[in-house]
Amino acid sequence: MTKQKGEGVYNVVVIGAGTAGLVTAAGTAGLGGRVALIERNKMGGDCLNFGCVPSKALISSARLIQQIRDAEKWGLDRQAPQFVFERVFDRMRARRAKIAPNDSQERFESLGVDVFRGEAHFISPDEVEVDGQRLRAKNFVIATGSRAVIPEIQGIDTIPYFTNETIFDELKEKPESMIVLGGGPIGCELGQTLSRLGVKVTIVEYGPQILAPEDVDVAELMQQRFEAEGVTVHTCTEAKRVFLRDGVITFEANYKPVGAPASSPAKFSGHALLLAMGRCPMMKALNLDAAGVRYTPNGVEVNDYMQTSQPHIYAAGDIANRLKFTHTALGEKEAKQKSIEYDLFVVPLEDVDRAVVESEETGFAKILTAKGSNKILGATIVAPHAGDLLHEFVLAMSAKIGLGKIASTIHAYPTFAELARKAGDKYNKTRLTPRAKKIFTWLYRNARK
Ligand SMILES: Cc1cc2nc3c(=O)[nH]c(=O)nc-3n(C[C@H](O)[C@H](O)[C@H](O)COP(=O)(O)OP(=O)(O)OC[C@H]3O[C@@H](n4cnc5c(N)ncnc54)[C@H](O)[C@@H]3O)c2cc1C
Repeated sequence: MTKQKGEGVYNVVVIGAGTAGLVTAAGTAGLGGRVALIERNKMGGDCLNFGCVPSKALISSARLIQQIRDAEKWGLDRQAPQFVFERVFDRMRARRAKIAPNDSQERFESLGVDVFRGEAHFISPDEVEVDGQRLRAKNFVIATGSRAVIPEIQGIDTIPYFTNETIFDELKEKPESMIVLGGGPIGCELGQTLSRLGVKVTIVEYGPQILAPEDVDVAELMQQRFEAEGVTVHTCTEAKRVFLRDGVITFEANYKPVGAPASSPAKFSGHALLLAMGRCPMMKALNLDAAGVRYTPNGVEVNDYMQTSQPHIYAAGDIANRLKFTHTALGEKEAKQKSIEYDLFVVPLEDVDRAVVESEETGFAKILTAKGSNKILGATIVAPHAGDLLHEFVLAMSAKIGLGKIASTIHAYPTFAELARKAGDKYNKTRLTPRAKKIFTWLYRNARK
């Protein structure tokens, strides 16, 4: 007999309807499982509402605006882009609305998922409560995500600020200038985008480089690009105190470059503020102690199968403490830190004909292989379409295809994808030993006789 919504025992109760929760719920229902999905805010979570989707929609307009600004690069007359800031934001919201039905309650219910709207918390390892209703399950998936860290800076509670949760819907008009606190991927992509949309942007980063997990050369190239576009970047700068006067937000900070014996005072101001200083896991409301699930300030602890300390309770997405994962791609910096021996193949974008004809030849691809072998350990691409180009390497890594094999695959000419083939060519050249070259030379000489 089919059970009423909320009654009996579910196979899986998923908490959080962001990327991780939605995929889990749809997958379980698709396999015939009885699944409940609980969401306290908007279906789709951060990615759809306050993250990837609105951000990439804005980036798309901002890129076009920048191309118009750079029109001379394409042989056009110099010109200033004509646009209305608010309309660019309207377009972003319209694009987001077009994607939203994929993540909607109606769609998930049509897939057979019981959707509950409200805040969930554990009352035992086998039960959660949402809006006074108890749900029992054999398995649980915690997919409650993360949110922007609000830093403990003196005065921060007294000034208005945006985070990724508010900027896409609550920034109603173009501010003259904006301070972006935090030079990670979120601060960088929103900072560059807002700058391209005509806001005078200052990115302030505590560490010695922006985009901290990336290799130094990647960060340097990005910083040069930002500065060339008019973004001010302060690294090694720690904001200490903030105040608002006559509509202007001012930070007092300490500037301490690496190796400097002492810090010196610094000041920076702007008409608006975006906090992008990292993410903290959303687990306070969950009452994880009642479930016996172990956690740290970085998130819920999981093993390689994403099981928490309670094997029937899993955690996925931003909430899962990913430091546990061992099989992620390596960057050069990380390989060095872990003393992993590697070979490095770098292809500058200016070697790729398509990039040259498109006037987009700033950037590079860096591929790390295990020392003396074909095995790809990681790839970094700084280029237009990098997110798409990366997948050739991702597939190669997951299917255990070596870098040399990529070179023997025909790549359409002229395409940006030739970056990958050229990296493969570079690898293959290292296999041509002096002895092998001598043999080839001899063979060719004989063939001419
Ligand atoms: C500006 C920006 C740009 C980004 N761009 C990209 C990108 O290009 N590519 C990419 O891969 N990633 C990107 N990200 C990161 C991406 O958005 C997150 O990694 C992703 O959303 C994490 O998904 P999740 O399912 O773990 O959590 P979330 O999407 O945060 O979903 C968690 C959900 O759980 C709900 N919830 C929390 N607690 C409870 C509770 N107790 N009860 C019920 N519900 C609860 C929340 O309301 C939320 O809806 C970006 C992030 C930002 C901020």
